[in-house]
Amino acid sequence: MKRFLLSVLAVVLLLVLGLGGLFASAFIGNAPIQPGLVDGFIHVVPDSYVTANILDCGDGKVMLIDAGDDKAGKAIIAELAAMHLDVHAVAAIFLTHGHGDHVGAVPLFPDAKTYALQADVALAEGRTGGQGPLARVMPVKPTGVRVTRGLVDGEVVQVGNRALHVFAIPGHTAGSAAFWVDGALFLGDSAGASNDGKVRPAPKVFSDNTDENRASIKALPARLAAAHLDVKTLIFAHTGRLQGLKPLVDFAAQY
Ligand SMILES: [Zn+2]
Repeated sequence: MKRFLLSVLAVVLLLVLGLGGLFASAFIGNAPIQPGLVDGFIHVVPDSYVTANILDCGDGKVMLIDAGDDKAGKAIIAELAAMHLDVHAVAAIFLTHGHGDHVGAVPLFPDAKTYALQADVALAEGRTGGQGPLARVMPVKPTGVRVTRGLVDGEVVQVGNRALHVFAIPGHTAGSAAFWVDGALFLGDSAGASNDGKVRPAPKVFSDNTDENRASIKALPARLAAAHLDVKTLIFAHTGRLQGLKPLVDFAAQY
């Protein structure tokens, strides 16, 4: 009996250590989140361990790329106030994917159209759960989000004076997207920046399919070049940012 209990204890300990290791690898060595104004029109807003982005679209209108974890949207609303704007200024919200820590404040903006790639619409609305090792065991519940329309790979959506280009990059989730807006490339959780200036793939513990994620990221530089889109800044949801396309090209060479 004692031996049996000891083996159970050993298995539990190994599971805890394994999961702990996966967690640690997701966070250790990341470049820290950098709030602030980027390229003169992007306000990077930290919301605890994630970021939302407010993009100036002219004429007192903005778009959001992701909406943070906080359902009260405190950080986003405070940044809008600092820009002398309120919740009505948000004309559109683009979700890099449907995980809960990116859709939190979506229901707070009554005039916004909300967009996600079609494959992540049900996840964003909380009608289905995530498929990653951790997400699979989390309860599924409605998020209060209503996606206005599912996006399609390759489409361009105009909001005020900004044109947003959509790239499907499945892997972190089935409907993960990268968005290019005037030289900034938003990668959500599909990649991150290490504190030595390299692009890292999506962390395994939070992702549906890491092989697919790496393949999607590897393919991006050629797809951007084919669309004649230059990249000045790489913006990630959970880490600091990187300059230029080179870190992404180096990633493609490495993996
Ligand atoms: Zn995610």
